[in-house]
Amino acid sequence: MSGFFDGRLSSLQPYTAGERPENMKNIIKLNTNESPFPPSRKAISAAKKAAKSVNLYCDPTADKLKSALAEDLNVNKKNIAVSNGSDEALAFLFRGFCEKGAVYNDITYGFYKVFASLFGVKSTVIKLDDDFTVPIDAYDAAEGTAFIANPNAPTGIALPLSDIERIASFDENRLVAVDEAYVDFGAESAVGLIGKYPNIAVVRTFSKSRSLAGARLGFIVADERVIADFERVRNSFNPYNVNSVALAMGEAAVRDKKYFEKTRREIIDNRAELTGGLKNLGFDVLPSLANFVFASPPDKDAEGLYERLKSRGILVRHFRGERTGEYLRITVGSKRQVSAFLAAVEELL
Ligand SMILES: *Cc1c(COP(=O)(O)O)cnc(C)c1O
Repeated sequence: MSGFFDGRLSSLQPYTAGERPENMKNIIKLNTNESPFPPSRKAISAAKKAAKSVNLYCDPTADKLKSALAEDLNVNKKNIAVSNGSDEALAFLFRGFCEKGAVYNDITYGFYKVFASLFGVKSTVIKLDDDFTVPIDAYDAAEGTAFIANPNAPTGIALPLSDIERIASFDENRLVAVDEAYVDFGAESAVGLIGKYPNIAVVRTFSKSRSLAGARLGFIVADERVIADFERVRNSFNPYNVNSVALAMGEAAVRDKKYFEKTRREIIDNRAELTGGLKNLGFDVLPSLANFVFASPPDKDAEGLYERLKSRGILVRHFRGERTGEYLRITVGSKRQVSAFLAAVEELL
């Protein structure tokens, strides 16, 4: 530490991002749940056009993107706010909506813990059951804003909407943030519940199913009063949080429904291929509705396999820890990547 750093942050442990090799040539990158497909061509043309006016500030109200999203999700524009990646939306929720603390699972998206510590939010951590499912009833006794990734990461396991409803209806004074980063790959979205439950806030991203991870674009869908409060935080931090190129790409991507359907369908197909292939090789594979699978090799030496795959130019993610350490999180890639991955694993076993 420099000696100038705020002592209250002395124990801050930042998020560890997945590896990003300098020379990406010949690397099969299945470690950060990106899309293997390029963005929609319409999004790329929109980016070129938008780039010509970056001498001007971007639209701080993100009006056109919100219109496209509102149409797509069948909600009002007043139910939407946009963010620089969904991570920023989560950060604003931790900063502005967690006076009574935050509640989340022990095995879930790593950023919840990081934001809690950055913003000084007290956390209650709920242990997943032995089969990595969420003990829904345990949320009742825990005070604070609930953060639930659905499907969960890194397990890929999804909760039915009735479970989200159960948590939201048990205590209407608690906000339930549903992080739907992976919902487009087969789970049920809670967006349809926001009319009935003003205490549900759905967080979404363009990083996984829209091929825009590097553009940094996310959004939140909630009751308009929640959105108004969210906007107070956003406008107190950076009204220009999403740049004009990202806004234009996002709008075009939402409007290009055909490309979205085609690419997400292919990921769902490839996930079945990857899951079947791993099971044939003796892996334990958790039932995933995301664009990754969480799988444990027959000898449970996930870290060893991670290293051996890496030496062959195949990157997957390994999370040390008592329960996660025996598993690898493998992003569902293109057909070619899935076959190359399975062939390599077969040889290495
Ligand atoms: C990837 C991911 C995010 C963050 O995505 P952004 O790129 O910041 O939009 C949020 N939540 C979960 C569960 C994720 O896996």
